Amino acid sequence: MKPLYVRVHARDNVGIIVNPEGLAAGVSFDGGPTLREAIPQSHKVALRPIAAGAPVIRYGEVIGLATRAMEAGDWVREDSLRLPAPPALDDLPLATATPPPLPPLEGYTFDGYRNTDGSVGARNILGITTTVQCVAPTVEYAVRRIKAELLPRYPNVDDATAITHSYGCGVAIDAPGAAIPIRTIRNISLHPNLGGWPLVVSLGCEKMQPGRLFPAPGAGAALPVLDGEPHVIRMQDHELRGFGNIAGSIMRHAEQRLEELNRRARTACPASGLVVGLQCGGSDAFSGVTCNPAVGFAADLLVRAGATVMFSEVTEVRDAVHLLTPRAATPEVARALIAEMRWYDEYLARGSADRSANPTPGNKRGGLSNIVEKALGSVAKAGTSALAAVAPSGERVTAKGLVFAATPASDFICGTQQLAAGMNVHVFTTGEGSPYGLALAPVIKVSSRTALAERWHDLIDVDAGRIATGEATIEEVGWEIFRLILDVASGRKQTWASRWELHNALAPFNPGPVT
Ligand code: CA
Repeated sequence: MKPLYVRVHARDNVGIIVNPEGLAAGVSFDGGPTLREAIPQSHKVALRPIAAGAPVIRYGEVIGLATRAMEAGDWVREDSLRLPAPPALDDLPLATATPPPLPPLEGYTFDGYRNTDGSVGARNILGITTTVQCVAPTVEYAVRRIKAELLPRYPNVDDATAITHSYGCGVAIDAPGAAIPIRTIRNISLHPNLGGWPLVVSLGCEKMQPGRLFPAPGAGAALPVLDGEPHVIRMQDHELRGFGNIAGSIMRHAEQRLEELNRRARTACPASGLVVGLQCGGSDAFSGVTCNPAVGFAADLLVRAGATVMFSEVTEVRDAVHLLTPRAATPEVARALIAEMRWYDEYLARGSADRSANPTPGNKRGGLSNIVEKALGSVAKAGTSALAAVAPSGERVTAKGLVFAATPASDFICGTQQLAAGMNVHVFTTGEGSPYGLALAPVIKVSSRTALAERWHDLIDVDAGRIATGEATIEEVGWEIFRLILDVASGRKQTWASRWELHNALAPFNPGPVT
């Protein structure tokens, strides 16, 4: 393979080394420069001399200011750049360059489970909600028995799972921050892939009582609400005598629910029933030029087909917010995006941190110098369409089109919050690699590099690394991801994470106080 780098934008004064083994000092690219030192794959090479204090430019944007003078061919590392200030939130352009609607994409369908609330499930799963962590092992015990003893008799039900979490008691339940984990657990319990009706196991004495989790309609709860009472089993009820009796009660209720779920069947549904959640984890410097733009192309296809596409991860949007507020459908949507950024700035400041806490050692090993470079690559997942809506963390998304669903960037917390938002299929891009998966929604994993897709051939579903080497285009991989989403949503194809049953724990975002 000849020496190769990728440059994204004509203004860029750095490129990313493509060659898998990196390149040695003295190697020259066609048309220059010559490397002055060895540079690993995915790390940055200076394409022109950069003066001390001058901007280092990637994606056509300033990713940092040079801490020292660099020559063309130098390795531009983490300590070669100083983090610039984040975009000020006070004078951002609001809906000044809203993209016109993309041409509609007709005729794409998937075989899903229609729910009475209008949502569509990509899976048919029995979910058992827990109001508090205390009951989680009991419900997990019952679920093991349900899967072994009951599930084989209900062939139309895909799985049974315990919706467990670390919330529910020992918390300031009336504090403003408590609203996020409570609505997160409620909305996950009403998830489209669970048929939208919960079975709940409560301890009895916990702070998060079932009535608080599922308030009566009209009680001021954010959508969705139940138009009836959920099935609740309280372990401390006096009629229940002993563990065997408690487990038996959960199984009896589960069997009723399995009867109902087993009557459901997949039917052809327009692609507009998809709610696809996008996120990245273990990103590298290729993520922003291969997997994320390919996912962004697929996101545009989904928007054209009338679906909902969510991107999230506040700290990975913060430094690119000036590129997104102009794309908002209305000034109100832009202001809602800014409000989410501001909330998170203040949340981090309360913990004596800022957005620079985001990049991980793996991100840096993968060539990402700082959060600005990471964010500019991350937002490529959002494609090119207008930003139609913004949803606060844990709220159910009802809008169609491209939606920002606010979540932390932490993979397992983001995935949990996107489930609450109603995500029925998840697309996860990775550079360094993650085995991440969820019980409640299939997770399609897309690698930024071919080397990862080859090494983890039974964990990565799509290799977007072919884009860097010119073997495939962003459009080709984008269409491949779009078609795979329809196949996976229909149950026609299985992702590797589903195949191995890799189910990360649910981790609702809890910014509130613990007592
Ligand atoms: Ca993430």
